[in-house]
Amino acid sequence: MMKKQIAILGSTGSIGTQALEVIAENPDLFEAYALTANRNADLLIKQARAFQPEFAVIADETQYNNVKEALADLPIKVCAGASAIADVAEMQTPDIILTAMVGYAGLLPTIRAVRAGKTIALANKETLVVAGEWIQKLAIEHRAPILPVDSEHSAVFQCLAGEKDNEIEKIILTASGGPFRSKTLNELKTVTRREALQHPNWAMGAKITIDSATMMNKGFEVIEAKWLFGLSAEQIDVVIHPQSIIHSMVQFIDGSVKAQMGLPDMKLPIQYAFGYPTRLKNSYPRLDFTQSLTFEQPDTQKFRNLAFAFEAMRKGGNMPCILNAANEVVVEAFLKEKIGFLQMSDIIERAMHSLPFIQNPTYEDYVETDRETREFIINS
Ligand code: NDP
Repeated sequence: MMKKQIAILGSTGSIGTQALEVIAENPDLFEAYALTANRNADLLIKQARAFQPEFAVIADETQYNNVKEALADLPIKVCAGASAIADVAEMQTPDIILTAMVGYAGLLPTIRAVRAGKTIALANKETLVVAGEWIQKLAIEHRAPILPVDSEHSAVFQCLAGEKDNEIEKIILTASGGPFRSKTLNELKTVTRREALQHPNWAMGAKITIDSATMMNKGFEVIEAKWLFGLSAEQIDVVIHPQSIIHSMVQFIDGSVKAQMGLPDMKLPIQYAFGYPTRLKNSYPRLDFTQSLTFEQPDTQKFRNLAFAFEAMRKGGNMPCILNAANEVVVEAFLKEKIGFLQMSDIIERAMHSLPFIQNPTYEDYVETDRETREFIINS
């Protein structure tokens, strides 16, 4: 059997390194075709030496010589710049493009991969938040399958296997509630960056960890689910499930609910996307059913970002793009300890109510909205 060739956009991040672990555990099935990073040249070099891809790409052009020299003894093509990453996304050879870059930067390479009709394993949820409607149309037009990597969406995808002609009543996305689930609104005023970075169940990159603490991550996942599964806002519920064992559920029109369960380990949805439609054997730890599973309603008074995401999804147009850009700016400011935890929501709300609304955005409108929103926040 031919090995599946995999291009990992963002190989040096949390998802990227776990994707490489999946490849390492299945050397007869998968091969890394291209690895890309933003600035972490040292790790990219180490990964390239270990996995010997065809291409190693670094977005930061000042690091090109460094990477090139370090890999000079190997037949690996080294490139630099954002456009080189987008070029990799549309190459003919890779069977799967894993979009594991963080934030808006993932949009362009994903568009290029979709236009080339590639199979996309999508981790970069921001792409579907910013331009979900547009990307989905493009994916249908170019017959580019989008396989979810986000654990909640992988769960829904797995629950839908074998249910092609059956109607979904709703889906229920589970959320751990993050590190501040039990804090009061008053206590949230003084939580620190260090506390926000301590997620109870998942080890992830800094940006998504903060998004989980504010519940913007769940809001993004609601929008992502709308586009991945063609649902209306009324068909998507969120429930807090602190143990992160049920990764999400689908309720069908007969009232029956299917849930996908497993230990919280991103290697599982990554492996499912790489192996799809085949389930692959592994030796990861198994679930212990003696623990209790609990559920509660999310508190959108405390975690306003979740309500903003529903609002942006209902409004449509460029509103989710405003939401995403505003969120990226405030998360960065919070990580640099320039603003407090609750200020993040205040600023996002102001951006959503101030930037010009466009009902049917073009690609250029998304780019302009992203730029304007960032500028608005920095200047206000
Ligand atoms: P990380 O911050 O850990 O990694 C991000 C990766 O993207 C790194 O390889 C980074 O390179 C690269 N990158 C960042 N900015 C740019 C840029 N401007 N141009 C090119 N490459 C860039 O993020 P995660 O792995 O946590 O998340 C990646 C995506 O997956 C996000 O969209 C997130 O929402 C989603 N996701 C993550 C989950 C997780 O468990 N981590 C779960 C579900 C979804 P460098 O290392 O050089 O900075």
